[in-house]
Amino acid sequence: MLDFYLQKEEIEDLQFQNDILVAPTAHTPRKPQHIPYISSSIERQIWRRNASIAREALQEAHYLCEINNKHLTFKSNITNENFVEAHHLIPIKFQNYFSWSLDVPGNIVSLCPNCHRKIHHANKKERKIILKFLYKKYKNALSDYDILVPLDNIYKFYEC
Ligand SMILES: [Zn+2]
Ligand SMILES: [Zn+2]
Repeated sequence: MLDFYLQKEEIEDLQFQNDILVAPTAHTPRKPQHIPYISSSIERQIWRRNASIAREALQEAHYLCEINNKHLTFKSNITNENFVEAHHLIPIKFQNYFSWSLDVPGNIVSLCPNCHRKIHHANKKERKIILKFLYKKYKNALSDYDILVPLDNIYKFYEC
């Protein structure tokens, strides 16, 4: 069953990444945002991710990988920009623990596909290194959106 859900999440993410490329760019004020509507099923709650907000985050990052801006990939045939993917630093499935939305530019990281796979699939030690790096970079933004938590909590979110 676990495998089934992991696959489902990955399929949803592929769809989400495609949606981002064609989504109009949002203009989110840099302050705490209300939690968006959720759809729930018996098995789990699904927090909606807004492709326009992710597009905004990628644009702010100039479509470069936030781990290293030299991680160039290729020009997207839709945006004609360097191809990157959007990743929620604090995973959206932990929205229940927060009073304000996690689906904000301050929590969305622009990553090259390799770094994106790494943050999801690397072993604990390697993942901690990139999480720590991104945490330092995003700390102020997380604070502006009132979703800042200690780094140790972020480590734990990725171990669930
Ligand atoms: Zn991701
Ligand atoms: Zn990268």
